[in-house]
Amino acid sequence: MPELFIGGTWVTAADGRTREIRCPADGTLVATVDEAGPQDAAAAVAAAREAFDDGPWPATPVAERGRLLVRVADLLERDKAAFARAESLDTGKRLVESEYDMDDIAACFRYFGNLTASGGTDRIIATGNPEADSRVVHEPVGVCALITPWNYPLLQTAWKVAPALGAGNTFVLKPSELTPHTAILLMRLLTEAGLPSGAANLILGTGAEAGAPLTEDPRVDLVSFTGGLATGRRIMAAAAPTVKKVALELGGKNPNIVFADADFEAAVDHALMAVFLHSGQVCSAGARLLVEDSLHDAFVDEIVTRARAIPMGGPFDESARTGPLISAAHRDKVEAYVAAGLAEGAVLRCGGARPKDPELAHGYYYPPTVLDDCTPGMSVVRDESFGPVLTVERFRGEAEAVALANDTEYGLAGAVWSQDTGRAHRVASRLRAGTVWINDFHPYVPQAEWGGMKQSGFGRELGPAGLAEYQETKHIWRNLAPKAQRWFE
Ligand code: NAD
Repeated sequence: MPELFIGGTWVTAADGRTREIRCPADGTLVATVDEAGPQDAAAAVAAAREAFDDGPWPATPVAERGRLLVRVADLLERDKAAFARAESLDTGKRLVESEYDMDDIAACFRYFGNLTASGGTDRIIATGNPEADSRVVHEPVGVCALITPWNYPLLQTAWKVAPALGAGNTFVLKPSELTPHTAILLMRLLTEAGLPSGAANLILGTGAEAGAPLTEDPRVDLVSFTGGLATGRRIMAAAAPTVKKVALELGGKNPNIVFADADFEAAVDHALMAVFLHSGQVCSAGARLLVEDSLHDAFVDEIVTRARAIPMGGPFDESARTGPLISAAHRDKVEAYVAAGLAEGAVLRCGGARPKDPELAHGYYYPPTVLDDCTPGMSVVRDESFGPVLTVERFRGEAEAVALANDTEYGLAGAVWSQDTGRAHRVASRLRAGTVWINDFHPYVPQAEWGGMKQSGFGRELGPAGLAEYQETKHIWRNLAPKAQRWFE
């Protein structure tokens, strides 16, 4: 069956190209899928444009649009096992983690369904003039290009698709070329839920061939992108000539600040989860551990002991607690960052070399790695390695902790651990990041906005602002008793 979904029809790529999708855990072939090029991108934009300009979706009442999103949530729950399996095969992620993701994705559709149905935020303005009335209304932006990464393929897609549809837009989705399968399944569910033809379109393919044409096309009104910083810069530039709205969810190099008075056991446990979850391939990973000098030795010793014991394995290995990296090229990149860190004076405390276990030989595994004695200038501290690599820096006192934490071009997330509530709040308020956790790491809820400061991007996903991202604001003034003004007489 063809895998591009354009104007309500499943089609193959115009030039017949395909791509093999292989599971990163063992290199086995998952499937061969159609690979779109510029011609397919143009066709998908044309379909989305027509569906927006002449189709029923933008004018569908909000209650009905909301109901459809809730139906999608129900269908996702029904098909959770198939979705989770597909996600794990594409990403190599543990099945149980994909299952958690599917729960979060259903919750996201349910949240935006209810928010949409609740009627929105249109306002009647008191003009002070009995002969005029005035309203501020919110309308869909138009045709949205939604471009998503491989680390949380369907979750990042849901954060865009649900509010885009809730607000009444039509879209072209371009998932990562490495992880297409749950996007394909989602298109089928949207159709089953009753979404009109052309409102949702899917093209699979590379950034250069399938993604870039979307960002340049004058018929596209908004580009919502989640991915790396370098790509985000390119997309912003590509969108500039046609002044599209742009929302960018980019990377992070997130600080996890641990004061000496933190709950030791909880802070160690969460510090491991913060950085090694999904092999560090998490935009909000707590990859920079900043630990108070007096706690440093005991804390890092414990982290190292536990990191060494984390079992690696494929998605269906129930004894595994972490999986492979997404590709050989990505593992090379992570290795290069570790090598650079060591060359710049970091001390390797654990990990740092590919596993020797023959069972893991065909996957892209890299072990949990801890680099101690790091300094702010090292590339492994500054750049997003996006792998299971923890860098450790020491600080003395609150001011130095905040200065080190903010010494980054990114501003996505961060955490502070302290049993001194006043201090925890003071530090949280000074961190330049879109999300800050106090005595925790990673939790999020669909009701709360997610996004970055500084070069982690702009715009917000989730929460009411996540819906507003996909809306235009319009002021409608009505003169109830029009009469000539004779201004020029
Ligand atoms: P990436 O930037 O390489 O690719 C992301 C998407 O953009 C893919 O679909 C890719 O094909 C497409 N793309 C690439 N070049 C393009 C171009 N010129 N024009 C249009 N599209 C193009 O990122 P990745 O490696 O897939 O994902 C990892 C990155 O995503 C990390 O930096 C991570 O921090 C970030 N991320 C951020 C968040 C967040 O919420 N801020 C969430 C998840 C991932």
